[in-house]
Amino acid sequence: MSLAGKTAVITGSNSGIGLGVAEALAAAGADVVLNSFTDRPEDHALAADLGQRHGVKARYIAADMSVGTDCRRLVAEAGTCDILVNNAGIQHVAPIEDFPSAMWDRIIAINLSSAFHTTAAALPGMKAKGWGRVVNIASAHGLTASPFKSAYIAAKHGIVGLSKTTALEVAGLGITANAICPGYVLTPLVEAQIPDQMKVHNMDRATVIREVMLLRQPSRQFATVEQIGGTTVYLCSPAADQVTGTTISVDGGWTAL
Ligand code: NAD
Repeated sequence: MSLAGKTAVITGSNSGIGLGVAEALAAAGADVVLNSFTDRPEDHALAADLGQRHGVKARYIAADMSVGTDCRRLVAEAGTCDILVNNAGIQHVAPIEDFPSAMWDRIIAINLSSAFHTTAAALPGMKAKGWGRVVNIASAHGLTASPFKSAYIAAKHGIVGLSKTTALEVAGLGITANAICPGYVLTPLVEAQIPDQMKVHNMDRATVIREVMLLRQPSRQFATVEQIGGTTVYLCSPAADQVTGTTISVDGGWTAL
């Protein structure tokens, strides 16, 4: 399956899952547009390296996904957006009564509203071509809850709903919209938490991963960015032409519990 001739825009893709998804799409032949809010030489170098390794066009566009006009500018500056992957996301952990209002607003803006803005900007081009893919990176927390993550969980449930609504509005037009719901994925962000957790719990690495971090993930194994990338490529393949308005869990069984 080749995605040659398609252009993918992946929000929040200078690290972690977004970068893994960009790698997988580029490996499948798509041109890619990487994004984050920073505008450092290394961000542009990351895109140049990725493009060179996979023989595709790759560039980096700085845009802040907490700002609606920036979200729409990202899609406009990309020029073409056949595949839109809404991935940018942040987390904050606190009880509802202590949760800072500004942090609630920021999480809803980055994790949910950004996808509304980018989707609104991308759909006209997809409709004109009669082909498009919207892939929203939700979470197991888009289907189930945990305490102290109110904004994240509200946003992730919201993006599942947005995926379904998008799918219905474009059904039959060659465009699909779906949400991928990962469990714990071993990204640099998660990796960085392991030493602290080892100290706090006085456990070795393997035990802290198994008994603390992956307590709710029955496989007791992290999902990988390659697996999220592969799932995205599948959603862009002809095999997934009729897969729309749904969620695909990549969570080691978390949501089966
Ligand atoms: P990460 O921190 O490595 O990646 C987040 C990306 O979003 C980064 O590229 C960051 O620069 C970008 N970003 C943050 N704020 C932004 C802004 N204002 N504008 C533009 N970009 C911004 O984390 P990750 O684990 O790769 O998470 C990526 C997505 O996957 C998130 O939506 C997250 O909720 C989701 N997810 C992660 C896991 C996990 O275990 N890692 C599990 C389920 C879902």
